[in-house]
Amino acid sequence: MTDSALRPGAAGFNGVRRIPPTVNEPVRSYAPGSPEKASLKKRLTAMAAERIEIPVIIGGKEFRTGDIGHAVMPHKHAHILADYHKANPAQVELAIAAAVKAQKEWSQWSWEDRAAVFLKAAELLAGPWRDTVNAATMLNQSKTVYQSEIDAACELIDFWRLNAQYAQEIYHEQPMSSAGVWNMSDYRSLEGFVYAISPFNFTAIGGNLAGSPALMGNGIVWKPAATAMLSGYYLMKLLEEAGLPPGVINFVPGDPIMISEKVLSHRDLAGVHFTGSTGVFNSMWKTIGSNMANYRSYPRIVGETGGKDYMIAHPSADAQAFAVGLVRGAYEYQGQKCSAASRAYVPKSLWPAVRDAAVAMINDIRMGDTRDFRNFMSAVIDKKAFDKISSYLDDAKKNAKIIAGGGARGEEGYFIEPTLVEAPTADYRLMCEEIFGPVLTVFVYDDDKWTEMLETVDRTSPYGLTGAVFSRDRQAVREALVTLRNSAGNFYINDKCTGAVVGQQPFGGSRGSGTNDKAGSKLNLLRWVSPRSIKETFVPPTAYQYPFMGEE
Ligand code: NAD
Repeated sequence: MTDSALRPGAAGFNGVRRIPPTVNEPVRSYAPGSPEKASLKKRLTAMAAERIEIPVIIGGKEFRTGDIGHAVMPHKHAHILADYHKANPAQVELAIAAAVKAQKEWSQWSWEDRAAVFLKAAELLAGPWRDTVNAATMLNQSKTVYQSEIDAACELIDFWRLNAQYAQEIYHEQPMSSAGVWNMSDYRSLEGFVYAISPFNFTAIGGNLAGSPALMGNGIVWKPAATAMLSGYYLMKLLEEAGLPPGVINFVPGDPIMISEKVLSHRDLAGVHFTGSTGVFNSMWKTIGSNMANYRSYPRIVGETGGKDYMIAHPSADAQAFAVGLVRGAYEYQGQKCSAASRAYVPKSLWPAVRDAAVAMINDIRMGDTRDFRNFMSAVIDKKAFDKISSYLDDAKKNAKIIAGGGARGEEGYFIEPTLVEAPTADYRLMCEEIFGPVLTVFVYDDDKWTEMLETVDRTSPYGLTGAVFSRDRQAVREALVTLRNSAGNFYINDKCTGAVVGQQPFGGSRGSGTNDKAGSKLNLLRWVSPRSIKETFVPPTAYQYPFMGEE
């Protein structure tokens, strides 16, 4: 990062460049006999047989502290995949300094050169790195091959490609000019550094939380989730291979409380890019509030948080389609998607058909090791999640009716059965709280209470992330669109409430679900720039008087 090409103004290129056309990455099938299945299976076997060491990476240098955490297979939790080093307080300071320093030069690169790094990263992930990042996600986060492919491969490729497209659109937006004047918008990166804190449940989110502010010229301190360490580390190595300069993203695993305390009290904190639970985000916001007097600038605070996502069927709905939506929406990735269907509302007339279809599918679901591609589900992420979900199952056994599942066994892996609960009332605890596991609670309502039910759905939880209505009656769809307008940032009609695709359904919710800055869209990227308006007058006036001041 020291040669003359990095000096301000040294673009080394004349021409208005346009990034290559962007498309969503096609999802591979991994069908029996396919070459992609053979290749991924081989990588899974190799990575399961090794135990790697994951360092802290600051300014391109690796640090080994000896304070070790383990990355394990949740579906076989005695199996250690990696030993990761936890950063110490001095290294957190070092990471902040490295990000601030790198930002000064990186922000002066032309945006096309920065975009090229991420476009190359997308191609590396689509090609030579695909198996490694998928295998890391399958082994360490217990995603099935399909769940991993749509997240760790396709969604992240889409984030990196489409963000470059959105950045191009932002930079092209320029103000109007008047005669003799040239007005310009300079989309500066933020002064200081951005703190990216990622959750365990989507590999793509880690790559995007750190990647989108970096694309816009910022320097990043990235704290990955302890339970998604393997994929996080490989993404960091991939970005290095793509040509990301040292220090632009610093990989800082470790104690979230210690790291956050140091980072959030730092004068140069310019932004927070968070995805995770509502409680953690609220506590970070509070800390930022109490530190306001110490900052150089007002930090941008972007957080996508919890959900209690719903699916409601109108009496005109197709019962089989609704049941399929419920099963896929509630149990894929063990219900550990922020968008997972967690509460459902079914009219009495449809309930027997919906219930029987759902139970038949639940009984058919195979659960186990993600290396066996026949499994539709695997383990939940860790012991803490296992215990929390189990306590909800205990509540359901006492206070509600378990229709299917209800079992939990944690000796070898953290397995929770796909569970269907019938709620005694619409405000029963399991209809209101985020469980983050494969537990779907259904309230059966009287067919003539449709309008009331919509109001209940709207006020039942503090969140506003995703929701779905199933109906063959257009008037009912219209009513749901109006009553449920603020209850979900991503709303589906006759489709399950999960599976948003970058560029097609920009993702995020409001209320207790976050700041709704729509990951993978222009709106998100705008949070990472601070525009400067420049006016250049070609021939400035040389006398102070205006014409109106002439003689009467
Ligand atoms: P989490 O809040 O436990 O952890 C998220 C990150 O915050 C991790 O890196 C963690 O180490 C860190 N963290 C934990 N405690 C902290 C503290 N006290 N101070 C600072 N940082 C702290 O969330 P999780 O279990 O990893 O992820 C699941 C949650 O994320 C769910 O609530 C889910 O709904 C939400 N989520 C939301 C979206 C969305 O787009 N809205 C997407 C994915 C996940």
